[in-house]
Amino acid sequence: MAEQDKKTAYDAADNTTSKPRSKSEFKSAKLSAVKGMNDILPPDSASWEWLEGKVRSLMARYAFRNIRTPIVEPTALFVRSLGEVTDIVEKEMYSFEDRLNGEALTLRPECTAGVVRAVVEHSMLYEGGKRLYYMGPMFRHERPQRGRYRQFHQIGAEVLGFPGAEVDAELILLANALWKELGLTGVRLELNSLGQPAERLAHRAALIAHLEKHAELLDEDARRRLHSNPLRILDTKNPAMKEVVESAPRLLDFLGEASLAHFNTLRGILEANGIAYTINPRLVRGMDYYNLTVFEFVTDSLGSQGTICGGGRFDYLIEQIGGKPAPAVGWALGVERVLELVREHGHAPAALVPDVYAVIPDAQALPIAIKTLQSLREAGVSAQMHAASGEGMGSMKSQFKKADASGARYALVFGADELARSEVTIKSLREGGGEQTAQPLANLSAWAQTLQSNA
Ligand code: ATP
Ligand code: MG
Repeated sequence: MAEQDKKTAYDAADNTTSKPRSKSEFKSAKLSAVKGMNDILPPDSASWEWLEGKVRSLMARYAFRNIRTPIVEPTALFVRSLGEVTDIVEKEMYSFEDRLNGEALTLRPECTAGVVRAVVEHSMLYEGGKRLYYMGPMFRHERPQRGRYRQFHQIGAEVLGFPGAEVDAELILLANALWKELGLTGVRLELNSLGQPAERLAHRAALIAHLEKHAELLDEDARRRLHSNPLRILDTKNPAMKEVVESAPRLLDFLGEASLAHFNTLRGILEANGIAYTINPRLVRGMDYYNLTVFEFVTDSLGSQGTICGGGRFDYLIEQIGGKPAPAVGWALGVERVLELVREHGHAPAALVPDVYAVIPDAQALPIAIKTLQSLREAGVSAQMHAASGEGMGSMKSQFKKADASGARYALVFGADELARSEVTIKSLREGGGEQTAQPLANLSAWAQTLQSNA
């Protein structure tokens, strides 16, 4: 059965939404956003820009460079990299056939596969390792709930071409620095090692034996995966399986010397840098491409969607996608969850407001007002123009009401009398307000400078 033909319980629950198919149905359909996909509107979008700005400046300080890959990729890329027997590939991908050439395409459910594809396609590791970061929307057909959407956003960091535990540590230090920048506290780091493929094979046999012993406790997914991908069972979100998962053999007990050394080096660096962590031997992550280090940053304050960031090593993925073998490690954070946490901590930035609002009593003053605002904007001032010429500019009272509502610090009044003297009136709208001065138009850029330095 083709992936996109598979129906899950989630799909059944979705049948309440209309799915127009014919031309006339398309014409009459009520248009709203797709379920689980959100509009990000002002003033909330300001916190998104704030976060993105913090990330850009932090990434620059860690010498990471930005990469932007397409949102649509060949379906085969995800099937091959994430693993066929994973939640994402089995039931969460938005896959479709290109109507024009029949290509099998998928809206990216994550970005590591695309980054690795791009790195291979452009031989980016030719002259050495790379530190890359990305931001953007991802798509998974999950049941929408708090902290879980069908279009959601990730920011991710990947280091490609370096095998050592010091880059695992560097990535964790980077994420930790971001939590600090954002004012987040109470974010815990959980750490595990998945070892190497041969070690996992030995563990796999023990794991299957354990799960078979408790077959009656396994849910449908787990039974199906018992022989195809038993490790995935440890990633279950089904509380009924908690006990059987907790008592399962631990991968950590199957690690050889080299894997243990990698793990211990990482732990040593984290400890030397004051990064607290707990070892979670059940942590396996949702994709098949990981080996050695895996980690998650979790919080208790977001309900059951408490993982804000997850990552690990994927030393075999580059080769799997057709590149020359090279090691890699990375993480991805969920922007919606991180921002919800930011809001909870009360650190979200203040809503954006303009510095000045131009009150224009008569449309005749529009040309000079427009020119003046342009020069203020060039000087770095944020200026909003009262725009209502079609309705006759509106009374001074209603214009001042709008000026107040804009949150601007000052109203610039382009009244006929003032303009006749080549002046504008500047009225303070905040901190008591009411204060009023006349400024020569020629002086406004000097005034704008005092505004900047008082900001
Ligand atoms: P979860 O266990 O919560 O399903 P995951 O292991 O599937 O997460 P990853 O694929 O590792 O998540 O993605 C990294 C981060 O992206 C997650 O830690 C989470 O913060 C965020 N994330 C993943 N799926 C969603 C979603 N559907 N909606 C919102 N954020 C998401
Ligand atoms: Mg998931």
